[in-house]
Amino acid sequence: MSQQSTTFPLEFELTPSETARSSAERETILSDPGFGKHFTDHMVTIDWTVEAGWQNARVTPYGPLLLDPASSVLHYGQEIFEGMKAYRHADGSIWTFRPEKNAERLQSSARRLALPELPVADFIESIKQMIAVDGAWVPNAPETSLYLRPFMIANESFLGVRAAHKVGYYVIASPAGAYFTDGVAPVSIWLSTEYSRAGRGGTGAAKCGGNYAASLLPQREAYDNGCAQVLFLDGETGTHIDELGGMNVFFVHGTDTLVTPRLTGTILEGVTRDSIIQLARDRGMTVEERDVTVDEWRDGVASGRITEVFACGTAAVVTPIAQLKGVGFEIGSADAPAGEITMALRQELTDIQYGRLPDRHGWLMRLDAAAETEVTA
Ligand SMILES: *Cc1c(COP(=O)(O)O)cnc(C)c1O
Repeated sequence: MSQQSTTFPLEFELTPSETARSSAERETILSDPGFGKHFTDHMVTIDWTVEAGWQNARVTPYGPLLLDPASSVLHYGQEIFEGMKAYRHADGSIWTFRPEKNAERLQSSARRLALPELPVADFIESIKQMIAVDGAWVPNAPETSLYLRPFMIANESFLGVRAAHKVGYYVIASPAGAYFTDGVAPVSIWLSTEYSRAGRGGTGAAKCGGNYAASLLPQREAYDNGCAQVLFLDGETGTHIDELGGMNVFFVHGTDTLVTPRLTGTILEGVTRDSIIQLARDRGMTVEERDVTVDEWRDGVASGRITEVFACGTAAVVTPIAQLKGVGFEIGSADAPAGEITMALRQELTDIQYGRLPDRHGWLMRLDAAAETEVTA
């Protein structure tokens, strides 16, 4: 299904919104954006058909999609997405973090869901286009960002079960407040023993809406048990730790070793996960990617060998885990403080993202200046 664009790279046509919010309205929203509640004035759309490939790249006013009720995404769930952030640096410039990783992951998710692959250059240009038109929506308070949500859906009107011949790719953007408003608070997480999020050969390594649909019931079980998130075991043996509903998991052993479940095809390969592994190695820590069992967690906490546990992902960056709860057991205590190494890694990663530390791995890409000259309308 790999397909070049008709014109490569794509050229985007801009239709400016006539109902864009005033700067006063925007500043009101940006002063308390929350997460995923408010959207910017524009969106990106790129169409794909099996005959013509990627075409009609455009930036238009943000608004509802017109979907035929027979659109295949509504029936068979052929949908994938990405999540990334635009960060404002102290000098006002706007940057994003390792966008080629998101572009490549969207391509691998597309392969698994039998959707067409969007070329990396077009993906990155779509992000730049959003910032060129809605860059004023990137907030500047500490730890805030503009969350970018690229996604792709099958929008062919056809009820037969096969890969769609008509697809849409979109980007929407939503200002995001600081994830932790009163300092980083460790969370309790719930071990789901009844449900898994992925099975061998399934879609666990793809970032698709279907995985999230399947996680909502166990996520509710987590809430009902006073936990913030749900932890899933591998679907095959029910013994190894996979990940949370939307975040990868790490264990600190002693002061010098970081352990995280290895990628077996059922775990989503997080960009944050990969970056944390690099930062830990840079500090001289040993990083082990291997199977981790709940028994190892229990014994490690009891013996003092496991000193810290945390989860990571783009939205919350790094979240300390105080406790694991499950039916009839608890590991760790709910009031455990955030770990030192956890917080140091979190600080270092966000310092790089916000331009407060040198970008020694070349992880940042500037989004504003470069895109402005390329708007075609
Ligand atoms: C997106 C996601 C993550 C985190 O990935 P990042 O690239 O670090 O944001 C982890 N697990 C799941 C299931 C995800 O969908």
